[in-house]
Amino acid sequence: MPATKTSTSTPSPPPPSSAAKNIDGKLAKLGLRTDMDRVLHLPMRYEDETEVVTIREACLRGGHVSQVEGVVVKNEISYKPRRQLLVSIADETSDIQLRFMNFYGSQVKQLAEGTRVRARAEVRHGFLGAEMVHPNYKVINEGAPLPTSLTPVYPSGEGLSQTVLRRVIADAMKRVDWQDTVPQAVRTRLNLAEFQPAVRLLHYPPPDVDTHALVERSHPAWTRVKFDELLAQQLSLKSAQQARREKGAPVLAAVGSLSRDFLAALPFKLTRAQARVVDEIRADLGEGYPMQRLLQGDVGSGKTVVAALAAAQAIDSGYQAALMAPTEILAEQHFRKIAAWMEPLGVKVAWLTGSLKKKDKVAASELVESGAANLVIGTHALIQNTVQFAKLGLVLVDEQHRFGVGQRLTLRNKGSDGLVPHQLMMSATPIPRTLAMTYYADLEVSVIDELPPGRTPIVTRAIDQNRRDEVIERVHAAAQEGRQVYWVCPLIEESEALQLQTATDTYETLAASLPDLVVGLVHGRMKPAEKQVIMDAFTAGEVHVLVATTVIEVGVDVPNASLMVIEHAERFGLSQLHQLRGRVGRGSAASVCLLLYQSPLGPVAKQRLMTMRETTDGFEIARRDLEIRGPGEFLGARQSGEAMLRFANLETDGWIVDQARDVAAWLLGSDRPEAEAIVEAHLARWLGGREEFLKV
Ligand code: ADP
Ligand code: MG
Repeated sequence: MPATKTSTSTPSPPPPSSAAKNIDGKLAKLGLRTDMDRVLHLPMRYEDETEVVTIREACLRGGHVSQVEGVVVKNEISYKPRRQLLVSIADETSDIQLRFMNFYGSQVKQLAEGTRVRARAEVRHGFLGAEMVHPNYKVINEGAPLPTSLTPVYPSGEGLSQTVLRRVIADAMKRVDWQDTVPQAVRTRLNLAEFQPAVRLLHYPPPDVDTHALVERSHPAWTRVKFDELLAQQLSLKSAQQARREKGAPVLAAVGSLSRDFLAALPFKLTRAQARVVDEIRADLGEGYPMQRLLQGDVGSGKTVVAALAAAQAIDSGYQAALMAPTEILAEQHFRKIAAWMEPLGVKVAWLTGSLKKKDKVAASELVESGAANLVIGTHALIQNTVQFAKLGLVLVDEQHRFGVGQRLTLRNKGSDGLVPHQLMMSATPIPRTLAMTYYADLEVSVIDELPPGRTPIVTRAIDQNRRDEVIERVHAAAQEGRQVYWVCPLIEESEALQLQTATDTYETLAASLPDLVVGLVHGRMKPAEKQVIMDAFTAGEVHVLVATTVIEVGVDVPNASLMVIEHAERFGLSQLHQLRGRVGRGSAASVCLLLYQSPLGPVAKQRLMTMRETTDGFEIARRDLEIRGPGEFLGARQSGEAMLRFANLETDGWIVDQARDVAAWLLGSDRPEAEAIVEAHLARWLGGREEFLKV
């Protein structure tokens, strides 16, 4: 098949009936099912076909895209140096050759001598004089009017030509209901363009439009479309929130003896930020509808104790709490810590993970089912169907971004008496405010923006791989001073086997170069129990250097570890590096993070390593990460709801988010029936059937 880049030179499609079906299928693949979907499929750029210049002028301009009009004076297929169609057209000033390397037989006929053609492309001065290679062209009658607007170029999919898209969209434009869903009063107040003219302008901009503003998407027509998109999002988030408020949840209002004794027994005082967040959660738990709160706090900010306090409140109120963590290591660590805090106070803490022996699993499930356990801590095993809770009041999810929405929902559905348990999700991956507001469906956010006192800042250095020996020296020195070291092996995404191999090699080399130290190895392929033995030895200070694959990424807490070496740091993402680095700097000793890299560094990797050196502030890192990667990738497809925003850009359009939020609140808060109709019409237009995923 000849690959035609340009649209107008694509020959006519196969017979209409099957073609129409075919086209609908292809449009559906692009998400364009309804007429409104098509109308809201906006151009990514434009071509200017509004002007024709003489062939002489086009040749003089050279190197620029020009449109010329002429009559075919020559049409031949040449075979040297390869098969190609050469067509010359002439006007009263000069002539020019149109060259097609790929062409259909039908095109040869279409461009017969005497035919009048408009052609648009860059003019090149080739061996045979001026020419256009694979121009956009159109066969016309003399005097055919020029388009009065720029020609849209749409994002397209396989097998969908611009010609077809343009036609389909133009047809849809004639059929849709153009009702403006934003009331006049709001438009006036926010200085918003009207819907139809704005959309029309974006499809067919007049030639004198501010093209820069169009391309930058800062044109008022774009602002209107972005506003609408964000308004739809805010409306649907807010209605999900209202729906949640209509569900019942256990009222966990009691802050009783357990909560008090627990606080009193803690070896430290809560930071101000922790205390504030505890108050926020406390208030939510006392309500009769389910809390859905995200607890954000940088690594080491002390989220665990906040979660434990929430659990204490649930237990004080006669309910159970469940804490789910993404890995066994992390779950076990929570279990040990929280059990040590709470069991002396009379709380029964159960432990439930997939790796337990059948018998132990059954025993744990029974504790949960009978209500004998007040708190259960574990991994995904907690959400299995076999686990029934006697009286689940609160669900705690650590490192929530590691779980899918579905997994969180399952745990939420484990309440009893038709009540939905409260939910607290924790994350050390800070989400910038605009993202939290727009991407996280119906979530309140609490932030711990302060680290416990006495932490010394981590010093970060980037070091070329070929200075490895010096790094090993430093490891030795640190260990001799009684400190402990993490050595993180390179991430090898393509092959787990290779990653394992590298980890084993690194472990062996380090053990050989540091004969007077105890070196340990922990990796993802080890059985949980084996991992635990090593982690315990490390926690107890019996292992000096812990060689690890990224299994230590989440949550490990060993305050005496103060040196972190990350090999091939250039292969890690920013937030991953930040998480890894957060394993040190937890005690009072000054901590160091060494990022070993392999030169030469690409620009993105360089930027990442520089960011790591410059800041330890998780929010700042998240902001830069967002800048480098964009929101979709930042959150992962699972959570971004397949990039819900097509037009608005959260980096630059935060101000529109604010406006949309206010208007959404106003519309939903109003009792007037018109408001309800507006909301419905607006959501139908913008979300169609896509609303569902916003509800979780
Ligand atoms: P993260 O937020 O990363 O989950 P953790 O809850 O693991 O952090 O807390 C990190 C360390 O800080 C733990 O050793 C914890 O006991 C300690 N910690 C938490 N809160 C305080 C506080 N207010 N003062 C002193 N140490 C604290
Ligand atoms: Mg944690």
